[in-house]
Amino acid sequence: MSTPAYAAMTPGAALEPHTIERRELGPDDVLIDIKFSGICHSDIHQARNEWFESIFPMVPGHEIAGIVREVGSAVTKFAPGDRAGVGVYVDTCMECENCKNGLENYCFKGFVPAYNGLDYNGDPTYGGYSSAIVVKEHYVLRIPEGIELDAAAPLLCAGITVYAPLRQFEAGPGKKVGIMGLGGLGHMGVKHAHAMGAEVTLISHSPSKEDDAKRLGADHFLLLSDSESMAAQAMTFDLIVNTVSAPIDLGPVMNLLKTDGTMAYVGLPDKPLEVNVFSLNGQRRNLTSSTVGGIPETQEMLDFCAEHGYAADIEVISADQINDAWERVVNSDVRYRFVIDASTF
Ligand code: NAP
Ligand code: ZN
Repeated sequence: MSTPAYAAMTPGAALEPHTIERRELGPDDVLIDIKFSGICHSDIHQARNEWFESIFPMVPGHEIAGIVREVGSAVTKFAPGDRAGVGVYVDTCMECENCKNGLENYCFKGFVPAYNGLDYNGDPTYGGYSSAIVVKEHYVLRIPEGIELDAAAPLLCAGITVYAPLRQFEAGPGKKVGIMGLGGLGHMGVKHAHAMGAEVTLISHSPSKEDDAKRLGADHFLLLSDSESMAAQAMTFDLIVNTVSAPIDLGPVMNLLKTDGTMAYVGLPDKPLEVNVFSLNGQRRNLTSSTVGGIPETQEMLDFCAEHGYAADIEVISADQINDAWERVVNSDVRYRFVIDASTF
């Protein structure tokens, strides 16, 4: 099926109109008309070969929201007209312990990413910067009524990536939680942690974001360069979810954690981090990381957002504005997720 898309043809190239082929609908497949597609910083890292050698042409996009057009003969959970979402991965082995336990994101065989990967049959995958996608039913999420489709798209990656560590490390009443970086992931982190009932501090390198952080649900704002306030907050945090996309000095931030406190580093900078073990061992602090979430937890997160009446704060753009939007993301000037109107591909 011939499908309009936007692609980076070579590493670092500007995105341009391109046409891809989507596979014929198999028995377990759902064909989704994409309505909106979020821009994740991971799209930029990968299109610029910042993590590893990527596959080109690349059609990025793993924050997909749309409407089901057609379903395969064995599909039971979806019907034409349903609101549907697709996130970071589109296939897993479903045989390993993790897949069986709803942790498809940690599939032993390695998940098939929505783009910049190969299907298990060897075909390259193409993501959400396109007008339609064919995905196995198991990897399609239900977008609850009550969340607009455009604001729902970023939940499929940004939303779940920060929700998972907040749940794992039990953000909630009585817990002091820091969210580091107010971008796509960070603004969802603030909203989730606030909805979970935690005391939330946004930790940022941008002084201009204080008002927004508080409007989004943060109780406090801490500027990384304000060493006096950083010192005053030492040893007070239970959990910090770090979404920063660039390599930074972690020492001063680790000092914010209490004894046994945890930093969950979900940002994925292009360079290895330097961590002084002395920032950990003196207070038995934990440094951990995670990647998105399993399918059941992603559905739980979507339902949690609907129940609490929030989704992403977005700026909707047309496809020809993608390259400018990417520059703004790189310059920490996103408020707080760009979402592409898929009718413009
Ligand atoms: P984003 O919208 O660009 O947000 C990143 C934020 O980090 C910025 O808004 C900025 O917030 C802060 N930041 C950037 N450069 C900084 C610097 N030099 N020093 C201090 N803070 C800085 O990106 P995103 O889409 O949220 O993604 C964030 C990172 O998570 C990316 O590396 C992405 O690849 C990764 N990611 C990981 C997963 C996963 O599964 N683990 C999933 C999705 C994305 P302030 O202006 O407030 O400081
Ligand atoms: Zn992402």
